[in-house]
Amino acid sequence: MTKTLGFDTLQVHAGAKPDPATGARQVPIYQTTAYVFRDADHAAALFNLQEVGYIYSRLTNPTVSALAERITTLEGGAGGFCCSSGHAAQIMALFPLMAPGRNVVASTKLYGGTVQQFSNTIRKFGWSAKFVDFEDHAALKAAIDDDTRAVFCESIANPGGYITDLPAIAAIADAAGLPLIVDNTSATPYLCRPIEHGATIVVHSTTKYLTGNGTVTGGCVVDSGKFNWSQSDKFPSLTAPEPAYHGLKFHEALGGMAYTFHGIAVGLRDLGMTMNPQGAHYTLMGIETLSLRMERHVQNATRIANWLEADPRVEYVTWAGLKSSPYHDRAARIVPKGAGAIFTFAIKGGYEAGVKFVNSVELFSHVANLGDTRSLVIHSASTTHRQLTPEQRAAAGAGDNVVRLSIGIEDVNDLIADLDQALAKATA
Ligand SMILES: *Cc1c(COP(=O)(O)O)cnc(C)c1O
Repeated sequence: MTKTLGFDTLQVHAGAKPDPATGARQVPIYQTTAYVFRDADHAAALFNLQEVGYIYSRLTNPTVSALAERITTLEGGAGGFCCSSGHAAQIMALFPLMAPGRNVVASTKLYGGTVQQFSNTIRKFGWSAKFVDFEDHAALKAAIDDDTRAVFCESIANPGGYITDLPAIAAIADAAGLPLIVDNTSATPYLCRPIEHGATIVVHSTTKYLTGNGTVTGGCVVDSGKFNWSQSDKFPSLTAPEPAYHGLKFHEALGGMAYTFHGIAVGLRDLGMTMNPQGAHYTLMGIETLSLRMERHVQNATRIANWLEADPRVEYVTWAGLKSSPYHDRAARIVPKGAGAIFTFAIKGGYEAGVKFVNSVELFSHVANLGDTRSLVIHSASTTHRQLTPEQRAAAGAGDNVVRLSIGIEDVNDLIADLDQALAKATA
């Protein structure tokens, strides 16, 4: 056996071994809420975090743990845990870092739902977000203040397929003594491993490519284990005594696993944004074919982006794999296996043409989702980004005549034929 297994091997095997009770080869769905303690001492040791084991499925469950370990391995992290959705993962990722009055500095180029969560909902916890164009490094540095506790961006950003310069952003966060959190949903660890580019924490909506088939919502948080939480007094949840665990100091006691243990022992215990074992099962099934699907997604996206760009009915295409993209060289550095399969294009004709286009597609599904085996389309301005101001929409690359595509793994000629007939109707 080679020392380090390849990605294709790990996506099938990491986190799973034959079931110790039955020999079952596939990871069983442990559909149970609780686990019997060997005796009172065992129970006490588990509750004190002196021994690792299963207590109650709000915290940990063997099926869910297998998935968390698989994603953590694929990302090259030290530890991780799963959550009920991608949005839950984002709250869970910030939870150990934030407190009332603290802020996160986030990229303007984000999934519409994340802009919403960060603009409005997190304010109810007394947290806030400052949005900055991460191309403007001076503005990013200026936005970081004494109350900032994290920097947040996506590797391949929604909806335009923008590629974040992760090493440059990581260096800025590092110089400020802050962790960089990267949402790696659109890239997946097959196309991009943010920790190798300096990220501290990776979050996922497993709802998308990791599951792949559009069956369940889920999320995951992966920690690199590399951040020194004790370098300042900014992260008391991880460095100060925790009253619920007899004054345990997470970082001092658990080192590189401090953030992961806090996420489970405090975060999942008290916020309860837990993934269920049935959901984890669907995602474990999907993740086994991740690399095969991503290769086809990228291959199809390459054909379609080039075909659209050459079409006179199209104003522009944003896929970063195109030679015309300002992010073409960066994509070669950050996502060398391909610039993903989500991008936007603008139809000549404005808002009405965008609406007509999504009404005319037959094979593409008009849904508020992405990263499915099926090809999907959405007119962001009238749906996912409609709550945003026109300025926020433009900053996020979701203008009035812009359509977002999530290219599936179908026969690419069928997909091009569908786009062709819908474009004809939209521009008639
Ligand atoms: C879908 C998505 C989310 C939110 O995930 P849910 O599972 O829908 O909660 C966050 N970030 C990105 C990039 C997404 O695509």
